[in-house]
Amino acid sequence: MTPLLRAALEHAAAGVPVLPLHSPTVTGCSCGRADCDRPGKHPRWHRGLLRHGLHDASTRPEVIRRWWTRWPRANLGLRTGDRFDVCDVDPPDGVAALRALVGARRFTGPVVRTGSGGWHLYLRPTGAGNRAGLLPGVDWRGAGGYVVAPPSRHASGRDYRWIRPPAAPLADCPPELTVLLFPPQQSAPGSAGWVRHPDRYASAALAAEADAVAAAPVGTRNSTLYRAAYRLGQLAALDLLDDRDITVVLADAARRGGLGRYEITRTIRSGLRTGRRRPRLGLAA
Ligand SMILES: [Zn+2]
Repeated sequence: MTPLLRAALEHAAAGVPVLPLHSPTVTGCSCGRADCDRPGKHPRWHRGLLRHGLHDASTRPEVIRRWWTRWPRANLGLRTGDRFDVCDVDPPDGVAALRALVGARRFTGPVVRTGSGGWHLYLRPTGAGNRAGLLPGVDWRGAGGYVVAPPSRHASGRDYRWIRPPAAPLADCPPELTVLLFPPQQSAPGSAGWVRHPDRYASAALAAEADAVAAAPVGTRNSTLYRAAYRLGQLAALDLLDDRDITVVLADAARRGGLGRYEITRTIRSGLRTGRRRPRLGLAA
């Protein structure tokens, strides 16, 4: 059994749908197109196999054995959005952008060093779809996407490899990235989002955000808290709310939701600061 087939079967056994990709060749790509711009990175769609695209990615061992018997060198694709999302980071821009956003915090889940020298960070699924250019040098692979996985070969001749193994526990997507994946609604002055009584709206928003934080399911608590602080920070920027009131109310809700004190303080501060930089203009009186 080749390492590629073995890896494909292992991922499938863990519930991850896999798919065969083209492979890099001496002349370019096994698809044979002289102008192929993604050698060894795109799926084998043709000849009735994988007719339905990513929906045909499979966890069935007999299907997977058939694929890699037919194309022993096929690179291995893993469908994203089911068991995990992947943050695709290209140095140096991507590394710098990510560090600027989340600071020195480390990603603790599975990590792949790609054949091109980039990084794939595996995170709990967010429900978001693919997003190219989420940050400079950073793409998101979520629902409807896939990644090239070890031990696939890159066109450079280097192999993809695990820096931290696929069995490592997945971490939550950092809340700063969640906000980018699900941008808060912004409404322009004069639009339907215009509010007649901004101060009343702000009080209601504070109560609603606190309820959402207290009720957030495990695994989404910190990101819910961040989004709440971010949105309320947008109102605080218009002097509709006070940072101290927001902090007290949200911290109380977050404690009821089971978050730790240190995490609460840090997350609220960070959300408020970011939200304050983007006032919710539709509410300006
Ligand atoms: Zn190709």
